[in-house]
Amino acid sequence: FLPHLVASLEQVEQTYIMVKPDGVQRGLVGEIISRLERKGFKLTGLKLFQCHKELAEEHYKDLKTKSFYPTLIDYITSGPVVCMVWEGVGVVASARKLIGSTNPLQAEPGTIRGDLAVQTGRNVVHGSDSPENGKRETALWFKEGELCEWTPAQAPWLME
Ligand code: UDP
Ligand code: MG
Repeated sequence: FLPHLVASLEQVEQTYIMVKPDGVQRGLVGEIISRLERKGFKLTGLKLFQCHKELAEEHYKDLKTKSFYPTLIDYITSGPVVCMVWEGVGVVASARKLIGSTNPLQAEPGTIRGDLAVQTGRNVVHGSDSPENGKRETALWFKEGELCEWTPAQAPWLME
């Protein structure tokens, strides 16, 4: 271990990103993965998955009292989703920026929602909102052996 690598390891975050059923149905999986991949984050988990009601409810438990909660649960369980874990320094906030505002009509052009969606209830992608939730959601959607620890060949060309 080189000292500068040890220091940066502490700053490495995990975020849980999910292409929602509308993104899968609309054929946007490759596009969405590509945007995160090109940015330079590291993919450590990836699967196509049919989410069941209990998992959707646990994932969105903070929104339980909201009026849109039942339709949100129906939406997330309405077809397969693509579950991902991405790692990197600052990945949580950066992925949220790449995703854009919750309401796609307010999301900036250049963001995933700004470019690819029109309605809050069909906003194609989820991203964790804090490093703590990144860890919580990763543990919720992935089992231990499903994540890969690896060093991308491009690592020295992304981080000095
Ligand atoms: N949502 C909705 N109506 C609303 C607010 C949110 O249908 O008025 C849905 C939408 O799919 C959103 C998800 O609930 O992505 C979670 O809401 P949150 O506020 O956490 O937005 P996000 O973190 O996804 O931007
Ligand atoms: Mg959220």
